[in-house]
Amino acid sequence: MSRHHEIEVRRKNSHPIVYLDYAATTPTDQSVINAMVRHLGFEDNFGNPSSHSHYFGRVAEEAVETARCHLAELINSDPSEIVWTSGATESINLAIKGVAHGCTDRSAHIVTSAIEHKAVLDSCAYLASEGFEITYIAPDQHGMISPKMVGEVLRDNTVLISLMHVNNEVGTITDIDSIGQLARDRGIWFHVDAAQSSARLPIDVRSAPVDLISLSGHKMYGPKGVGALYVRGCSSLRIKPQMHGGGQEAGIRPGTLPTHQLVGMGEAARLTKERLHQDAETMATLDRYLLDGLAEIRLTTFNGNQEHRVPGILNVSFACVENESLMMSLKDVAISSGSACTSSSIEPSHVLLGLGVSENAANCSVRFSLGRLTTKDEIDLAVTRVCESVGLLRELSLQWQSSNSDKPFHNNHEIKSDVATVQENTE
Ligand code: PLP
Repeated sequence: MSRHHEIEVRRKNSHPIVYLDYAATTPTDQSVINAMVRHLGFEDNFGNPSSHSHYFGRVAEEAVETARCHLAELINSDPSEIVWTSGATESINLAIKGVAHGCTDRSAHIVTSAIEHKAVLDSCAYLASEGFEITYIAPDQHGMISPKMVGEVLRDNTVLISLMHVNNEVGTITDIDSIGQLARDRGIWFHVDAAQSSARLPIDVRSAPVDLISLSGHKMYGPKGVGALYVRGCSSLRIKPQMHGGGQEAGIRPGTLPTHQLVGMGEAARLTKERLHQDAETMATLDRYLLDGLAEIRLTTFNGNQEHRVPGILNVSFACVENESLMMSLKDVAISSGSACTSSSIEPSHVLLGLGVSENAANCSVRFSLGRLTTKDEIDLAVTRVCESVGLLRELSLQWQSSNSDKPFHNNHEIKSDVATVQENTE
């Protein structure tokens, strides 16, 4: 049975599938869909936003500029500082390669971390092949990159620091204010990958010393295939375009603007701004509820710093339970083993390895990510199913049998530490 067919059958039988993979993607909000369809067909506003010579083009351009204003309002920037892209991946490529290629020094130094998204790591690897020098900061064991760690690796020829605001696998939050100040004091560009934070944390570019921000539509209840790069003060002349064409977006990112996608992202940004505080409160409650439920399972480790973690992204290792087996056994709960971009890879997560988690424990780790539509009932169902599956899989595990068969399955302890809580040491 195809996955689509399976979902259809389950829905028809009112057998719900709980979606807890919002960090991979969010469902497009209905009001976003409604706004998008008004910019496609002949009866609607299908014009090319660059066709200034007639009404159709001018209406489309107006819609694109309204969307740009909504996105600018989300991060408190000027609309002229927003460059549309096809997603955060393209935005990250444009920021990192664009800054590097804008430098006269072709061996300039760039700083990033070992736990960034592949779009950052692969862009940096590409620049390294061209002669640029890259430093990958190793986080501490809880996944934190401190301003001190960044300060220690800066050099006279450092031109760019690129770090993520919220880690997509463990949810840890980077102190972008302090690191940004460090960068600004040294005249270094600071790029922030905010794909995972834009719908979860407030971002204000008037107070945060950040020069470049990458954003993604589908992580904030907008459509896939659209994103943006915020470029402070339109200092765009130093950013080398990575594509060449019709001169749109001040020549930094040419290509016909996809009105419906941009309108979708604009509406998603407007809704996000409107709901940010309410969503954050709900998320904190649901996150605690999920964490308490999962903590009842023995030998459960919560990966990453729990104090500096965004509510709604929770990475958990269940000792002696391989993540692939767990995910396959959870028929009605959708979770993931980490980034969707690397989920086809059988390699353990580079983020968890970067935190110093053993390969074995990384292969026993899964990510739960909650979103705007998550309910307590869904979490109850998810926790029940995870408990059942973990129990069954442990019964089949020789490793588990040899070391734990005499102990109860459930934990009765309270969570004691806020940092990388380990119920019992599994190593
Ligand atoms: N950066 C982070 C932290 C992400 O989580 C993702 C998507 O998973 C991306 C970048 C890439 O975003 P997009 O899918 O818009 O290219």
